[in-house]
Amino acid sequence: MNIQKVAVIGAGVMGAGIAAHIANAGTPVMLLDIVPEGATDRSQIAKAAIAKLLKADPTPFMHKRNTRLVTPGNIEDDLEALRDCDWIIEAIVERLAIKQDLYLKLATVRKADAIVSSNTSSIPLHELVSGLPEDFAAHFMITHFFNPPRYMRLLEIVTSEQTDQDAAHKIREYADWKLGKGVVDCKDTPGFIANRIGIFWIQTAIQEAIDMGLTVEEADAVVGKPMGIPKTGVFGLSDLVGIDLMPHLMRSMNRSLPAGDALLEKATIPPLIQNMIKTGYTGRKGKGGFYRLNLDSGQKVKESINLQTGEYSPSQPAQLGSVKAAKDGGLQALVSHPDKGGEYAWKVLSQTLRYAAALVPEIADDICAVNTAMKLGYNWKFGPFELIDQLGTDAFAQRLEADGMSVPPLLEMARAYGFYKETPPNLPLSGEGLGGGTDSFSSPDKGRPGGVSSPQALLLYLQPDGTYLPLQRPEGVMLLADIKRHAEPLLENDAASLWDIGDGVACFEFHSKMNSLDPQILEMIGETVDFIPHNHKALVIYNEGSNFSAGANLGLLMFAAKLGGWDEVDEIVSGGQQAYKKLKYAPFPVVGAPSGLALGGGCEILLHCDALQAHAETYVGLVETGVGLIPGWGGCKEMLHRWGNNSRFPRGPLPAVLKCFEIISVATVAKSAFEAKDYLFLRPTDGITMNRDRLLADAKARALSMVEGYQPPAPPVFNLPGATAKVAMEMAVNDFRAQGKATSYDAVIADALATVLSGGDTDMTETLSEDDLLALEYAQFTQLVRKPETLARVQHMLKTGKPLRN
Ligand code: NAD
Repeated sequence: MNIQKVAVIGAGVMGAGIAAHIANAGTPVMLLDIVPEGATDRSQIAKAAIAKLLKADPTPFMHKRNTRLVTPGNIEDDLEALRDCDWIIEAIVERLAIKQDLYLKLATVRKADAIVSSNTSSIPLHELVSGLPEDFAAHFMITHFFNPPRYMRLLEIVTSEQTDQDAAHKIREYADWKLGKGVVDCKDTPGFIANRIGIFWIQTAIQEAIDMGLTVEEADAVVGKPMGIPKTGVFGLSDLVGIDLMPHLMRSMNRSLPAGDALLEKATIPPLIQNMIKTGYTGRKGKGGFYRLNLDSGQKVKESINLQTGEYSPSQPAQLGSVKAAKDGGLQALVSHPDKGGEYAWKVLSQTLRYAAALVPEIADDICAVNTAMKLGYNWKFGPFELIDQLGTDAFAQRLEADGMSVPPLLEMARAYGFYKETPPNLPLSGEGLGGGTDSFSSPDKGRPGGVSSPQALLLYLQPDGTYLPLQRPEGVMLLADIKRHAEPLLENDAASLWDIGDGVACFEFHSKMNSLDPQILEMIGETVDFIPHNHKALVIYNEGSNFSAGANLGLLMFAAKLGGWDEVDEIVSGGQQAYKKLKYAPFPVVGAPSGLALGGGCEILLHCDALQAHAETYVGLVETGVGLIPGWGGCKEMLHRWGNNSRFPRGPLPAVLKCFEIISVATVAKSAFEAKDYLFLRPTDGITMNRDRLLADAKARALSMVEGYQPPAPPVFNLPGATAKVAMEMAVNDFRAQGKATSYDAVIADALATVLSGGDTDMTETLSEDDLLALEYAQFTQLVRKPETLARVQHMLKTGKPLRN
């Protein structure tokens, strides 16, 4: 990819975050800013920015050591050092003259093929490059990151006819593979794609809520989850990003939007919001926003603002029939519900989706770019065109007409078949032959040679010229969703499925609520191990939920406990132990491919895989102590084995035992896959994939690479110190108790954990088997689970999502 060294100019919010993420990709990066007047340290701005990055939460670095890759400097003394940079990213103040002044300086030092890009959110590319040397302009583009750069997956790229295609390709590839970004090509239009539609959506949703007299809770309940939008909705989101941002963005859009653009009609900032900004109510960073926490009574009381009066009162959850109806009936049920929530939903969606439909091809070549931008830039689960298809494209157009709104040409073309169309696998398609309008697509016999065999090509999307094209994923991108669209599972129950993902590899998918692990999943693990050898040679454990697995199904545990069904609970513990053990010794390679949370039992299944290929944004941990338990599905055993055999760690069992105790007793969760290696939740040899969309293909490749000569692991044996180690752990807990960092019940759980990790009633001369360790886990787990304090912790976690410190 040839990007070996990067520089970021401007160490503000965005520049610093971008530099940290470049470091996450393993690339050395310089971070430069101006020299402040009278500064004693001429690079103090960049240095302070790095110090701030280290304190930020969520952390911008995937591993603390990445800080070492960021070199602070200033643009007066360190300009020369830019000579060997392959990519220079400008992220300075949003002022054209200042940016251009910087570019002229960069033009004198940049090496011949170095690429310069701007992170501007509002200045068009043609203005940025006007008057600059031709060669500089050919290597210049806009690369628009979203805040925070590590976590927001969207990268909008704007190039022009003048742009060197190799340069653009280099950046796209680096951003995709190394930074894990979803790269979307945008036209050189105001706000590019995501902010153009996002700002319209926010302005519409806020204004309509005010006009209709809704509460902020009601508005967020409608414009959030039922639409597949994060539950912060629109008011919660505004509080999060800063209420002052919107007028700022709106002002710059106002200057550059074409006359007659529907967003111009939304340009007025409501007086309530103007007043909030004036008085410092700018959201979470200010005194409060549409929501605030009132601490006056000595307690945290969540309040919300009255959109009519501007007064705050305790927040009241929304009670809307439309929102309830959407739970089963989806988007259609929401917008057709007669209550004010239904009416509001229609008002916001009709205008926003119609606006999006009217903007293609003005802002993007195709609808896929728009959908991706909204999904990755605003965390929408569905893009605008997928939402219209959910509403029924023709029904949506008809209702617009009934409301007196014109139907944009692209939507008109989509009326017959929708924006996306699934085809039966045997329908022959051809790239070129699909041309000629929607008719040609509806009649497969119109002579379309060259069938497409890949299941990934079988979703068609509408192009601006009215024809449909098969959706093609880039090389190395494999999505289970694509495979599932046209395949039947090999095995299936309510909680899990097994899929054929080609080349003799199968994929085990959890699909229970929050991907929590329950007896059905455990049962299917056993069936899968028996099934695979007949027709397959390797297994990948992977799913496309936001989280790999939140852990064991605590609701089920609580239910059984309430009924006194202890036999059932005990069976789940032994069932999990047996299932994971069977997986570990299966006669074929098993690769775990997690992304998001992999906690408790979700972590334990990974510990039993032969190898992992983890998404960089994987958060692994054995968090059982938080709910009054200890890892009981082999987690203690596997961690002991890993730490006991870690050549980079002090020899002898005691250090390993204490290390496992340190990690598990405080429910450590790694904040990235890189950090997970520090705790040996991942082995040093396990792979990490930066781009979420490339995870399955990478995991499959890893599994296949292990097939030849595969031998299941040899069962471990343990020589553990017994009572002596337990005493050391008890002392540590007593210290914590003395400092007020542990409760008396924490000490009970720690004692159970220490019993397992020390090996129980043993000493170094005795050899324990894997089953001995599992028996210890079982005994301690099943004792703890019966204690009322544990059940109180479980119940609290189910209710609040947070641990109870009893
Ligand atoms: P910021 O105000 O936090 O930081 C700007 C930094 O640039 C400051 O540290 C300032 O000292 C430095 N600077 C100013 N002039 C300079 C010069 N001539 N040379 C070197 N450094 C200079 O701003 P920000 O929010 O990080 O925005 C930076 C750019 O990113 C802008 O173009 C903005 O439009 C764009 N952007 C911002 C966001 C966001 O959410 N904040 C999102 C996407 C894009």
